[in-house]
Amino acid sequence: MAQAEPIHIMGAGLSGLAAATTLAKAGLEVHVHDIRQDSGQRFDGDFQALENWSMDADFFDQLREWGYDPSEFKATEFTEVDLIHPDDEITKTYSPKVAYRIVERGTSKHTIDQGFKRMAIEAGANLHYKSRVKEEDCQIIACGPKGTSAVAYGEIFKTKHPNHIAFQMNDKLAPGSYSYLIIIDGIGLICTCLWRKQRGSDRFLNETIAWYQKHYPDIDIEPIKRVGGKGDFTINKNYFQDGRYYVGESGGLQDFMWGFGMRMAVWSGHLAAQDILGNCNYETEVRKQLMPYVKTSVANRFLMNRVGDRTFKYMCKAWMKDQKKRGDGLVWIGKLFRPRWYKSLLYLLVNPFMLKSDPKAMGRGVRRLPFRKAKKRDIWEQSEDAKKVAERWDSVRRSGGKTSFSETSD
Ligand SMILES: Cc1cc2nc3c(=O)[nH]c(=O)nc-3n(C[C@H](O)[C@H](O)[C@H](O)COP(=O)(O)OP(=O)(O)OC[C@H]3O[C@@H](n4cnc5c(N)ncnc54)[C@H](O)[C@@H]3O)c2cc1C
Repeated sequence: MAQAEPIHIMGAGLSGLAAATTLAKAGLEVHVHDIRQDSGQRFDGDFQALENWSMDADFFDQLREWGYDPSEFKATEFTEVDLIHPDDEITKTYSPKVAYRIVERGTSKHTIDQGFKRMAIEAGANLHYKSRVKEEDCQIIACGPKGTSAVAYGEIFKTKHPNHIAFQMNDKLAPGSYSYLIIIDGIGLICTCLWRKQRGSDRFLNETIAWYQKHYPDIDIEPIKRVGGKGDFTINKNYFQDGRYYVGESGGLQDFMWGFGMRMAVWSGHLAAQDILGNCNYETEVRKQLMPYVKTSVANRFLMNRVGDRTFKYMCKAWMKDQKKRGDGLVWIGKLFRPRWYKSLLYLLVNPFMLKSDPKAMGRGVRRLPFRKAKKRDIWEQSEDAKKVAERWDSVRRSGGKTSFSETSD
């Protein structure tokens, strides 16, 4: 149903700004409130990947179709990635199509956050930073994570090495998860994701950086800062409740297996705006368009929580076998992400005991993927090389290098 009242959106991130752009373009009065000083400040220079394998449609074509202009931000296209197996074997997977695009998050002009901010302003939305509003006073809730299901930490550095991407499955360096290396135009990021809660998480990042230094000796590293944050993975009873639309990470609309969430953030923001404009029913469309992917990812996460390096190795081998057969590495990874009847069945079986209800969710029936406990195998001593990485970072930090996360920050 079309409405003439001003729309208030909580959160000027990707989902909130996408919704604001669509609504303001349609002539509605839109106010976006963000507690931070600017869009993208949550991430502060982090590189993230816009995946392009979970469906046949190219994400940038989707963006254009929805009325967003991908040329507003810098995106570097990749057709290949180094796949690092848990036993340190390095292979390459590639595709004739765009496999993914790397974008920067943050407050610099070329970031995706600032691109979406410009689109919202251009469309006529009013943005209010350092503005604290109540959830009850907003129609769209787009404020990112509330709880913690997993965390990721990374070090950003200067390098002379050409653009390069590596993705590593290794249960020691990235418990239950993966680490990655991204180099774009002289700036690098080495990041590790922890799907099990650890004390002294720096240990994992230091060891991961030491690993990359050893196996990619031609990469020079001059650390600039450390970044990171938490991811919130929830299933909600309703995505539209008490007159409010829950979009992006606030609605738990992310990939539970590996944490990809930007595509669904923009998508859900767009759908919420379309509902307000009377063009669809948000609840119905989220369930039809997004939930099959979310449920598949819950099933995938359930399986991931039960395995370690032996299965990671099996996955890497299967991926490379499929790459050889088809000449396209996107097919195997795409299959992993796409809804299948057996994943839906597994979701039905496992989600009741895998997710824990959130008592603070204003009676919305939110169930969260808990941050799992560490395993015995997560306790190990840092190597000498990792200690050197820690010392190097310490000296950068003492001369002004910033860490934009704490164990509890988002
Ligand atoms: C370290 C890390 C790496 C990631 N890597 C990837 C990746 O490679 N690919 C990918 O697709 N996804 C990735 N993700 C997930 C992705 O970042 C999120 O899914 C996506 O940003 C969610 O968009 P959003 O609009 O819901 O939230 P955001 O874009 O984070 O925006 C939320 C906004 O709400 C604001 N806010 C918070 N609280 C309030 C409040 N009370 N009132 C008002 N405003 C508030 C915040 O300041 C922020 O501006 C990563 C996440 C993390 C933490």
